Amino acid sequence: MAQRFTDEVAIVTGSSNGIGRATAILLASEGAKVTITGRNAERLEESRQALLKVGVPSGHINSVVADVTTGAGQDVLIDSTLKKFGKINILINNAGALIVDPEGKTNTSTGVETCLKTFQLNFQSVVEMTQKIRPHLANTHGEIVNVSSVGAGPAAENRFPYYSAAKAALDQYSRNTAIDLIPDGIRVNIVQPGFVATGFTTAASGMSPDASAKMYEGIGANTSCIPAGYCGRPEHLASVIAFLADRKASEYIVGQTIIADGGTTLVRGRNVALATRRAE
Ligand code: NDP
Repeated sequence: MAQRFTDEVAIVTGSSNGIGRATAILLASEGAKVTITGRNAERLEESRQALLKVGVPSGHINSVVADVTTGAGQDVLIDSTLKKFGKINILINNAGALIVDPEGKTNTSTGVETCLKTFQLNFQSVVEMTQKIRPHLANTHGEIVNVSSVGAGPAAENRFPYYSAAKAALDQYSRNTAIDLIPDGIRVNIVQPGFVATGFTTAASGMSPDASAKMYEGIGANTSCIPAGYCGRPEHLASVIAFLADRKASEYIVGQTIIADGGTTLVRGRNVALATRRAE
């Protein structure tokens, strides 16, 4: 029986962990051939094994160790996908991270090198991948989904000034490319996750797994932060990304953002303060 992504080919950046891994599993288990990628070979192999475990044929998986911030890394992702599968229908620009400086800081006094590295990963790599993949997606009338963050604003994120600014830049770039690429038949859309328990705090930012699990549990239980009452799981985001990558389901959505955050962006400190005062 035909599935949602039968005969489609997807590249999912940052699929050696977290949201990207869950997205690759979902797309591939619904018929897509997928290129999975990341810099860490061990974690990438865990993703490949997870795909095989849910029944994805090994011939449907192209596993590529690459740094998406380098021209060579971007080229090998696109070239190896074309070589193995012959075309590209879907690009999920998901690789991203909150880059911490050598002293463990992320605040506004963090040096400009950290700012540049943050933009290189969370913004520039998407620009470069989009430019390189455009002719291939024009051939297939394909889809791009960019993974941003609720940190992109409009609320301030002064603890993560560069990361949140890079994601804000990504959002506006995505809207701009959505308009430029739609005449080629390419759709671009955006997903903004809220808190999601992934390698974001551990593999990427150096927190211990225990401390990270406690943090996600504590934040999740705080309904003035997450009204849903729990942190998101990678699968919650994968299903939204897949919806935007599925032309039959979302054809008329162009350059838009779907926020999947358990309600986080709808609650405000002033409402919490008012509720507390009323209760007093
Ligand atoms: P993870 O750390 O679990 O996954 C991030 C992925 O990005 C990994 O596969 C990592 O692979 C890859 N990556 C990082 N740097 C590079 C690089 N230079 N080259 C290639 N791949 C790279 O985090 P998430 O799954 O949470 O993150 C996915 C996206 O979601 C990111 O864009 C993040 O900003 C966004 N997001 C996450 C939130 C959360 O709460 N988790 C909240 C809001 C947004 P490797 O280490 O192998 O290179």
